[in-house]
Amino acid sequence: MSQTQPSPIDPAEKAALQKKYLAERDKRLRADGNAQYIQITNQFEHYLEDPYTPVQSREPLKDHVTFSFVGGGFAGLVTGARLKELGIEDVRIIEKGGDFGGTWYWNRYPGAQCDTASFVYMPLLEETGHMPTEKYAHAPEILAHCQNIGNQFNLYDQALFHTVVTDLRWLDEQRVWQIKTNRGDCFTSQFIGLGTGPLHVPKLPGIPGIESFKGHTFHTSRWDYNYTGGNPEGGLMTGLQDKRVGIIGTGATSVQCVPHLAKACQSLAVFQRTPSSVDIRDNQPTDPQWFEEIATEGWQQRWLENFTANQTGGMAKEDLVKDGWTDLSRRIRERIGSLPQDERTPKNMMLAWEDSDFEKMNEIRARVDAIVNDPKTADGLKAWYRQLCKRPCFHDEYLDSYNQPGVELVHTDGQGVSEITETGVVANGKEYPLDCLIYASGFEVGTEYKRRAGFDLTGRGGLKLSDHWQGGMRTKHGTHAHGFPNAFIVQPTQGANLISNVPHNLTESGQTIACIVKHAIEGGYREVEVTEEAETAWLELLLSGPGRMLGAQDCTPGYYNNEGQAPGPGAEYHVGYPHGASAYFDYLREWRSSGAFDGLAFKT
Ligand code: NDP
Repeated sequence: MSQTQPSPIDPAEKAALQKKYLAERDKRLRADGNAQYIQITNQFEHYLEDPYTPVQSREPLKDHVTFSFVGGGFAGLVTGARLKELGIEDVRIIEKGGDFGGTWYWNRYPGAQCDTASFVYMPLLEETGHMPTEKYAHAPEILAHCQNIGNQFNLYDQALFHTVVTDLRWLDEQRVWQIKTNRGDCFTSQFIGLGTGPLHVPKLPGIPGIESFKGHTFHTSRWDYNYTGGNPEGGLMTGLQDKRVGIIGTGATSVQCVPHLAKACQSLAVFQRTPSSVDIRDNQPTDPQWFEEIATEGWQQRWLENFTANQTGGMAKEDLVKDGWTDLSRRIRERIGSLPQDERTPKNMMLAWEDSDFEKMNEIRARVDAIVNDPKTADGLKAWYRQLCKRPCFHDEYLDSYNQPGVELVHTDGQGVSEITETGVVANGKEYPLDCLIYASGFEVGTEYKRRAGFDLTGRGGLKLSDHWQGGMRTKHGTHAHGFPNAFIVQPTQGANLISNVPHNLTESGQTIACIVKHAIEGGYREVEVTEEAETAWLELLLSGPGRMLGAQDCTPGYYNNEGQAPGPGAEYHVGYPHGASAYFDYLREWRSSGAFDGLAFKT
């Protein structure tokens, strides 16, 4: 690790930046927050159709299984794999897509790739013996990896694809879960897992006239290669060579697909409300010899722990992963480390973090000037907010796309697109005629859980999860909710809460759930449920921590801060283990391997 002293930040420059950041936020604040977006229903439903796999007809199921899991993404796959490893064979995954993969099933837009190093992002690499071919693997490889996991652990046998759960309730008398789906299934399951993911329901911007566009249109998570030509591997989209294309949105998705559109379209207009921060990517092919050397027994777990330690302020002598996220954390640590010991108060540490942030964002803005030839376009592409206000992006071709002929940044200075007409898009008072309009407008985040899941989990005595969580999320470990026996929620909040490598949370959760289920089955227990006291004690522990690190109200609006609106009741519970992610994983390993499963009640 470099021991150079970070350079001081000029206080006047810092004050000016703080002022500029607030002014940029104020431009974008709007009273309707999340309500500005259109829920994809009714006349917009075609935006949700699966362009990748035809729907197969099948008979509805009326049987019973040991474990059912809602969601066939990483959460379902790793939980299913861990259950199978422990000998629980009867596992059924229910998935709305036509195959496993979740996010990686749907997001096949050109250029899609992971933003966290593949060696920690892709789960079960050691178990499957897969060597990621690149430091940041592209989507087709990640999707194929999901399919490999499904094959290796025999998860395909019982999987239900193109199937949406419509009702999931605990039957008090039979002491099992009943699952109903849109395919007419009505079966029971002793245990259930929920892994529907945070970003799986596409949304559209609520722009006046959106329904009137007569050209071709789709959302990035349902890429229409039949129209564009090309393929998810990045083949040239020859169908766009004579097309005027517009794309709305400049988040992480747009940053990855714009370079491919720029190469293919007759003309490309990128409609931008707020620029992303786009740092260096520096992707590399994996050297097989290097991989053979590092991939000794237990390698991926060591890498996961090392990443978590580096990225969440834990203790690690070295940085094995060296990606954009660990670089960010290293810089913050170095700033804090440069404070004299007796000045390391929480306030000074936060100020040191802010200094590190200003330095990083200045570099990112300078990078725009260094790459983009036209000064006005370069100015428009500069992000004026702290880096974690919005999802940081990393790309080496995105900025250069704006140097390509026919590519125009339509910078709306925070106002967004004002209207969509039959023939195009209106922004800054000008109409842009288009043949094709692509929505890179993201996914529902701040909406209610039951709206995104498509059902309201109904537990013991008819208790709805939405009622149980009315005042905020209530669980132990983010996994167990009182009143919902034999149900396991697989996601990071109230656990490690580790944001840039969610798969680490999922694999730890999957392993823990498999241990609990095995213990229940072997002990002849029909029910396992967190006690009310244990759930409450976990929440009290969470609230003793430093609170939320993301979602500051002085940030430019986005899904990290509830679109700039008050965070809503219970937001204080959207936190993780107060002693940090590394400590959480140590605690969880100890908790599950002790066999006592403290806080859970098992009933025969
Ligand atoms: P985002 O929600 O990040 O971006 C939506 C975009 O649409 C924003 O730029 C938003 O602008 C813009 N927008 C919304 N309404 C309007 C309007 N009326 N006029 C103009 N623009 C508008 O969606 P993404 O799909 O890009 O990304 C979602 C998340 O998915 C990411 O944050 C990330 O977590 C994940 N992701 C991860 C990837 C990876 O790991 N490799 C790759 C891609 C996505 P504004 O910012 O002003 O709201």
